Amino acid sequence: MSLEERKPKLDLTTRFLAITLFLAVISSACNQARVATQVPVKPADVNESRIINADREPGNWMTYGRTYDEQRFSPLNQINDRNVSQLGLAWYYDLDTKRGQEATPIVVDGVMYFTSAWSKVFALSATTGQLIWSYDPKVPGDWAVNACCDVVNRGVAAWNGKIFIGTLDGRLIALDAATGRSIWETLTIDPHFRYTITGAPLIAKGMVIIGNGGGEFGVRGYVSAYNSETGKLTWRFYTVPGDPSKPFESPTLAKAAKTWSGDWWKLGGGGTVWNAIAYDPELDQLYIGTGNGTPWSEKFRSPKGGDNLLTCSIVALKIDSGEYVWHYQEDPGDAWDFDSDEDIILADLTIDGRARKVLMQAPKNGFFYVLDRTNGALISAKPYTFVNWASGVDLKTSRPVETALSRYQGTNPAPIVPGPMGAHSWQPMSYSPTTRLAYIPINDAGFEYKLPESFEPKKLAPNYGIDVVAAGLPQDSKVKKAILATVKGKLVAWDPAQQKAAWTIERPGPWNGGTLTTAGNLVFEGTAGGTFEAYRANNGEKLWSFPAQTGVMAGPVTYEVGGEQYVAVLAGWGGVFPLAAGEISFASGRVRNVSRMLVFKLGGKASLPPMPSIEQPALTTLPNLANPGTTRKGERLFQRYCAGCHGDVAVSGGVLPDLRRSSALTDDNWFDIVLRGDLQSQGMVSFAKELSRDDAAAIRSYVIFRRNQDAHSEKR
Ligand code: CA
Repeated sequence: MSLEERKPKLDLTTRFLAITLFLAVISSACNQARVATQVPVKPADVNESRIINADREPGNWMTYGRTYDEQRFSPLNQINDRNVSQLGLAWYYDLDTKRGQEATPIVVDGVMYFTSAWSKVFALSATTGQLIWSYDPKVPGDWAVNACCDVVNRGVAAWNGKIFIGTLDGRLIALDAATGRSIWETLTIDPHFRYTITGAPLIAKGMVIIGNGGGEFGVRGYVSAYNSETGKLTWRFYTVPGDPSKPFESPTLAKAAKTWSGDWWKLGGGGTVWNAIAYDPELDQLYIGTGNGTPWSEKFRSPKGGDNLLTCSIVALKIDSGEYVWHYQEDPGDAWDFDSDEDIILADLTIDGRARKVLMQAPKNGFFYVLDRTNGALISAKPYTFVNWASGVDLKTSRPVETALSRYQGTNPAPIVPGPMGAHSWQPMSYSPTTRLAYIPINDAGFEYKLPESFEPKKLAPNYGIDVVAAGLPQDSKVKKAILATVKGKLVAWDPAQQKAAWTIERPGPWNGGTLTTAGNLVFEGTAGGTFEAYRANNGEKLWSFPAQTGVMAGPVTYEVGGEQYVAVLAGWGGVFPLAAGEISFASGRVRNVSRMLVFKLGGKASLPPMPSIEQPALTTLPNLANPGTTRKGERLFQRYCAGCHGDVAVSGGVLPDLRRSSALTDDNWFDIVLRGDLQSQGMVSFAKELSRDDAAAIRSYVIFRRNQDAHSEKR
């Protein structure tokens, strides 16, 4: 089926389809009414009782992690370790964006709701992939420059007939689940600051909970709760203290301010809540993960030291008021962008013979934390992969025991593992109460941290406060090869009670997909190399693989409609890794972005269209008239202003244009793009306020220099 065939051309058709599908949903719901605990009367008729009792209707996937405990475990077992080899494509749906796809779909009563890049929303028939409606919030293209990590979005929330989405430019929007029409919209940020929303909202007690990102760009982190019916703000919790000359919002922040020094508030402080939000109905608590302080280097953030609370922490809040309950800080005085924003999973575990109410997290810093969620006490923390920034976590003080390497004081770069990508990032992990294992997509990649000679915050550049040139991949072929050889990935089944790996699947590179585990003794994961795979959950035996034609990062889900089980995953390579990591992002092979929803069932017979081959012509050399000093200046500017999207040392990871191949290298279009903003609508804003014409010329000479370097090495 082509895209045109699938997309209704007229509004009327869309409406007709919506009504037809709506009626189909109603009639199927009525057929099941005898067994269902509640008859859905409208699309996305989700409420607290339905989510809490989600195991009574395992065919649905009603919230981001399926249940409020965020385990991403499905009780469905029609597809299992005995028959998964017969899994085939049931349908697919092509998207109109070519950027990273990170969303977990929600499936309620036969309808699938999900987001794509640029915060667009889609409602499809979960059995056929037929479009019911789509919604484009029309995020301005130039807002992309405010995003650290691609124009991604991780999903919607469903509640009482509405679908909720946070947009890249900071809006929270409620849509009518039947029609996709906007019901209310509210701006959750001050647009003078570089906030972005990429995370999925969470709904609890009728409140939409939403955070935001921007910790690299000088913002102050917070999480907000909005009334889901009216869009009115119910409460807001700031994660870091503001200007101390003004009253602090709470006693917690007054206390937190004592752990900071200098003028931290001028750069916002950071501590953003860009991903993990979990609700605990049993304890009436909300758990949030907070990110790095701004800038990354604590030397420029809080010059006299301090823990910089509540950055890099898990914080428990009262759900009704947003009041502070407890916190656990994973990285006191963080200096490495070790966000604690990775998904938080709630579970009841037996540890040392004792029943414990725990929460689990595998944050960027490489340690797997098990906390007592009643009070935030640390139960255990062990490295889930290789780390060298800390030798362990002291269970007496609950603090990491840092190594001599960790604070990068010297004149040489410190090779610290993990790096800012994290040993695990937003790609969701899952936990099976059957195997009692957590399935973690792991990145093994270090980073060369070095303090810069000086640091001056800039509006349009990420404010890392580190030497961005020292962090670049060296072009000496032996050194480069040695560094590339250390970059790997793996899927690890982690036993949180024993604090050790039960089994491990090695991957050629990092940035593989989120995981799903099921009662069919299965684990599903997409890969950076372009496959979607199934493993036996208890022992890691590989059982099935599907060529997805593109890197798959998002978390898969499973659902059941009409007695048939489906597995769905949103495919589409992107995110921060291929944007910023340059050549390292080819570790699993060169994949392109093909953005589509892939849905599988037993005996599925659909097939993907063949991939058109795109031959890249060999790089040729260009004359470079600039002197070495200008080229070096261009390198510094490139690494600071351009590398975050166009790749480390000017090598694109294949999602955004490779500037070494830009036709503008040889004419004045270069200046029109960089300084006048000719490609603003595509996210390339004018840098005229930050860069002079000489600066732009220096950047160009550096890109030509890099092109010529690589043209020579290709010849060899
Ligand atoms: Ca961060």
